Amino acid sequence: MRSNNRIQKVVIVGGGTAGWIAASALARVLGTEQVSITLIESDQISTIGVGEATIPPIRDFHRMLGLSEADFVRRTQATFKLGIEFANWGVEGDSYFHPFGEYGREFDSVAFHHYWMRGKSIDNESSHGVGHLDQYSLCTVAAMAGKFAPNSSDPNSILSAIGYAYHFDASLYAQLLREYSQGLGVRRIEGMVTSVEQQSDSGFIKTVTLESKEVVEGDLFIDCTGFAALLIDKTLGVEFEDWGHYLPSDRALAVQTENTESSILPYTKSIAHAAGWQWRIPLQHRTGNGIVYSSNYMSDEQAKVQLFENLEGEMISEPKSIKFRTGRRRQSWSKNCIAIGLSSSFLEPLESTSIHLIQTAVSRLLTLFRGKNLIRLILINTIMV
Ligand SMILES: Cc1cc2nc3c(=O)[nH]c(=O)nc-3n(C[C@H](O)[C@H](O)[C@H](O)COP(=O)(O)OP(=O)(O)OC[C@H]3O[C@@H](n4cnc5c(N)ncnc54)[C@H](O)[C@@H]3O)c2cc1C
Repeated sequence: MRSNNRIQKVVIVGGGTAGWIAASALARVLGTEQVSITLIESDQISTIGVGEATIPPIRDFHRMLGLSEADFVRRTQATFKLGIEFANWGVEGDSYFHPFGEYGREFDSVAFHHYWMRGKSIDNESSHGVGHLDQYSLCTVAAMAGKFAPNSSDPNSILSAIGYAYHFDASLYAQLLREYSQGLGVRRIEGMVTSVEQQSDSGFIKTVTLESKEVVEGDLFIDCTGFAALLIDKTLGVEFEDWGHYLPSDRALAVQTENTESSILPYTKSIAHAAGWQWRIPLQHRTGNGIVYSSNYMSDEQAKVQLFENLEGEMISEPKSIKFRTGRRRQSWSKNCIAIGLSSSFLEPLESTSIHLIQTAVSRLLTLFRGKNLIRLILINTIMV
């Protein structure tokens, strides 16, 4: 860091979804003339390879980047997501749909559910039914019919009640953001970081050294090394707060299958099992599947059997086993290092919120940069929070 405390060199370590989201947003907002942005990633350490379902604010993020939806959908084999169907969570055969978008319409400043509740109470006394609340959610009705339409910005249109997100191929997404970032001047270095040097007095990170012996200097380091947490944990020793007592799942087994005729539905499926649950995420070219479970209650072998029994199409990848810990760093920011992505925290992916947390972390970081970029920062702030 220079004497005027201005950050001139940002170094991002890790090129998964978190690393490339951070690089693209920083480059878009700060530019790369005043601040150099370098991202280091290693082919020897694969990305987590899952994380393919999102929630609606991702569209604001893409708008901020100026990514066209059509281009994004084409490049990442994306599909549209209207919500999540939770099957068998109450009792076997039971299903609950969590839609994006609105239920009904607010009227005279009174929220729609009050009208529905009132209608329901009258319902008991008369034969006219107001029906199930789901019938008033356009996203639920469309999802159950296997249909999708983009939402309308005209508040008088019924389609303005639609909210949606995407499912996409995580590695294609990282590739797209990589091209985008490099196009804006982000420097990418391929190589494994093998050592980290800190300032002797402050403990701030000074440089990282690659296997090739290349030394990369920085003012601000962003740790996007996933569960390895190379900087925030292995270097700075920031403790991880384990949330296993709230969220006992600690394993996942993921596999990709061919699409079947009925597979490309506009929503994620989350199917409950005796000790865990299974996701089904439809993309254009394949379906992502995985089982999330607790090793205290289900063996790896049982999980495999359970997952395979519930696959719809032919398997087209080797099953990938992932061990994880739910929880968060006690501090995501320590000295001149900020952890973003899995190095910072992880909740199991039941509501597919991790990528969103990456985006909000990056948008909050951007608000702390001062100077010429203030107007751009205000813009990003208003659309991304
Ligand atoms: C089972 C499961 C399912 C999930 N499903 C969803 C979902 O549906 N939706 C959602 O939003 N999120 C989901 N997530 C979370 C999501 O996968 C992550 O938030 C997202 O992929 C970001 O990961 P990351 O970039 O932090 O880490 P990673 O993808 O692990 O990337 C780490 C990067 O660091 C690099 N690296 C590591 N060490 C070094 C080193 N020494 N030198 C150089 N480079 C290094 C690696 O090469 C890699 O590029 C899921 C997670 C799990 C475990």
